[in-house]
Amino acid sequence: MSRIPPIKITPIKLIIPAMFALTLFPVFYKIEAQDLKLPQCQDEEIVNTVVDFFISESVWSAYGESKIKEMINSSIHTANLTLKNSCVPMRRQSGKLYQVDMTIQAFDPDLASYRNQLLRVTEPTIIKEITQKPNHYYALVVDDLPDDILGKTDVYLDPQFLILSDQAEKYTLEHELGHLANAWHDDTSWNSSLSKYLEEYTPDAHKNELHAYARGYNCAGRRTIMSQSSVYYLQLPIYSSPDIFFGDETCGDHEHADNARQLREYARRLKDKMKNNV
Ligand SMILES: [Zn+2]
Repeated sequence: MSRIPPIKITPIKLIIPAMFALTLFPVFYKIEAQDLKLPQCQDEEIVNTVVDFFISESVWSAYGESKIKEMINSSIHTANLTLKNSCVPMRRQSGKLYQVDMTIQAFDPDLASYRNQLLRVTEPTIIKEITQKPNHYYALVVDDLPDDILGKTDVYLDPQFLILSDQAEKYTLEHELGHLANAWHDDTSWNSSLSKYLEEYTPDAHKNELHAYARGYNCAGRRTIMSQSSVYYLQLPIYSSPDIFFGDETCGDHEHADNARQLREYARRLKDKMKNNV
């Protein structure tokens, strides 16, 4: 008689979803921004970023071009509101829209499989032109992610690529772009210390991009944009920041939850890269 060994859940297994930066499906979202107290932002040059969207044929035929454009516009608007509220000198702009055949034969494809398929079916010069510009990103929209996943990134595989589910909320785009700037979930995500696992599993070449302050936060029973806490469902259009308050509660802290600072630093590095890229 054969025996099936018991499944052992180790902390190593818990990191897998964190590393691929999944965005889980919430029960509901709601903006209640009227009690947000925002800081006075420093006056500085704003860097523009562009996102090109690659829509799988099945999403295209299910929703149609005008509905897809409406969803993209709503996501871009929410992204810009979040950046502005958080004093991040960066803005998002939607770029070109493409329709792509994303028929993947693999069972449970991972982020790399989606990206490989996209590269296979797209004219190579299109992706090359995007990746040569440091302020450009490419977002793939599909309808076959697991039901509870709204978006995916892997900043170490490709810092300009993200996947969105057709079920994505208007917050998901900026959440995934946040990951590409090395902003992470609230530190207690996945029932464990995120910092420890990020440190352990981040390639050495990228360790200097991790900062203890680049974590999400929950304030007044609400989540900042990178928070993944399953306890709080209401979402705010802000990155965590000790300078932002909801009512009397601060929405971040200097040491452990200042994703707004992480994004500001990212935006400034991006501005420098673009000056050197010209
Ligand atoms: Zn995430």
